[in-house]
Amino acid sequence: LFLPLRVIASDWFPGLLAVLDAVITVTLFYYAGRAGGETYAAYFLIMIIALLTRTKKQTVLYSLIVTTMYGLTLYQEVLRTGVTLNLHMLQTFLHIPLTLAVAVACGRAMESLNILASNDPVTGLPSRQQFVQLVNRFVKQARKSREKVSVLVLEIAGIDQIYKTKGQPASNRMIKHIVNRLVPLLKPGDIVARHDHGSLAILSGNYATTSDVANLAHEFLDVLRVPLILSGERVSLGAHIGGEIVHDPHNATSSGVINNAKSALIFAKTRGQNCYEFYSDDMQSRAYDPLFLEMALRRAIERKELSVSYQPKINLSTGQLVGMEALMRWHHPDLGPLSPVHFIPLAEGCGLIEPMGEWILLAACMQSMGWQELGLPPALIGVNVSPKQLRNPQLVTTVSRVLKDTNLDPQYLELEITETMFIGDTDAALETLQKLKSLGVRLSVDDFGTGYAGLSYLSHLPVDALKIDQRFVRDIDNGHQAKAIIKGVVGMALNMGLKVTAEGVETQDQALFLRDLGCHEGQGFLYSKPLSVKSMEQYLQGEQQRQMVDATKNALIDALSSRFEKRYS
Ligand code: C2E
Ligand code: MG
Ligand code: MG
Repeated sequence: LFLPLRVIASDWFPGLLAVLDAVITVTLFYYAGRAGGETYAAYFLIMIIALLTRTKKQTVLYSLIVTTMYGLTLYQEVLRTGVTLNLHMLQTFLHIPLTLAVAVACGRAMESLNILASNDPVTGLPSRQQFVQLVNRFVKQARKSREKVSVLVLEIAGIDQIYKTKGQPASNRMIKHIVNRLVPLLKPGDIVARHDHGSLAILSGNYATTSDVANLAHEFLDVLRVPLILSGERVSLGAHIGGEIVHDPHNATSSGVINNAKSALIFAKTRGQNCYEFYSDDMQSRAYDPLFLEMALRRAIERKELSVSYQPKINLSTGQLVGMEALMRWHHPDLGPLSPVHFIPLAEGCGLIEPMGEWILLAACMQSMGWQELGLPPALIGVNVSPKQLRNPQLVTTVSRVLKDTNLDPQYLELEITETMFIGDTDAALETLQKLKSLGVRLSVDDFGTGYAGLSYLSHLPVDALKIDQRFVRDIDNGHQAKAIIKGVVGMALNMGLKVTAEGVETQDQALFLRDLGCHEGQGFLYSKPLSVKSMEQYLQGEQQRQMVDATKNALIDALSSRFEKRYS
């Protein structure tokens, strides 16, 4: 009775409890009339704090303080009376291990009671935080008993949908029903906890082999397959399970075990509905496995995991914004942001680049129109087109439909086509390019210099601009030869009447060198990294203000100089 009451009281009114303890102990010792009563009172006060400690470190610290105080008290007693009582000596030596043992035992009792005291309010199950402590305890036990610890994380499919459409009470009822179905499948000693809003975690020390745990996972998935009646409606259930079986408890940590189960869950999700997967060491490398990424990419569009970043293109002479490039971004919910350098070639390989390309084209054109409608200065927007898209004659229809749907003036759209596209057979692409040009959009050759296609083919193409690859720009700092190459490229492009943009401009020296060569535009971290929609909007607003100030300044200079001319002519 005493311990649970203390835990609850310490959670609800810890200050009051401490004062009460102090008053009681001081009063007791005052009436006991013993010598050194104040010190003993302080000692008991500290003992109470020790009882209330939650972590092991706190417990050890407090017991050390207590032991030191006890020792000091005895020492004072000896000094005062001049008598060394064997009993006192014995007490001092006994006290150290005794206090430690009491403190550790109390700390453990507190830990258990704490776990029981603050459960998930909806299901009454241990919360995520408590689950971590429980896993920790199971792992520690396994180090001695050699039993196998297994952790399963079960994510309920569709619970978010229920939450959105029917509200929190319905989703709470759903999770309670699910818990009721799962609990009968557990063995004594197994623990089920609420891991997250829509997921549960199961901890067990009862299964010896992977196939035993797999059977349990199977049973879970089977009972969840039976639809549920929620507010009179039939709701189909589904789940994914990720599991981790601890084979080496000496090298395992609670967070590591749970994270491994969660990594396995990601893989289970990519395999489809109602699947389970166990963690294996090669899973981290499998995250970059094309097959895994391909499956995840297929769902990325519908799950709205794709977004667009916009990187400004700057006029190298005036420093003004002249356009921007739309760059695709993929934020995988579990793996985090993934680079287009990895996923674009993959999307090309599996035929996903076409829907993805159409998606970014529409998103960028809509965004550009949105900014124009906000009164921001119109800027040319560059969208990357992959070779596979260009080889499909449907591209022309897609671009014209997007322009029509978004109402964007074609002169503000620039399609960036990588140079490698123009190596080998270009006839079919040439026709598509001509049709695209006739729509009124601008065309540019991206990553120029990487494909070694030579400059001669450029004269046959209906392109307006050339983007020098960042490798050449980076090489500017590496000496005369690189500078000579870039000089030749810029000179020829200028002779052909093409607009030249340098990619990957990172330093002021590079920018000045390029400007002096006659290169028109620069794009790179020197000016800005790719920006989110919100940041780009702020950038455009800043640009608008700058342009207004420049225009006023120019008008003033014009007016002053014409007055000056009039007066002196
Ligand atoms: P890209 O079209 O040549 O785009 C320029 C890349 O250079 C971007 O990388 C950009 O973030 C990066 N960059 C810009 N300035 C600097 C700089 O100063 N220093 C350095 N080191 N890098 C800079 P990102 O966004 O990773 O895109 C890589 C490539 O992925 C793009 O190269 C493009 O080929 C492809 N890509 C991106 N989005 C799309 C898309 O929507 N469709 C297609 N087909 N390809 C895309
Ligand atoms: Mg590009
Ligand atoms: Mg490029």
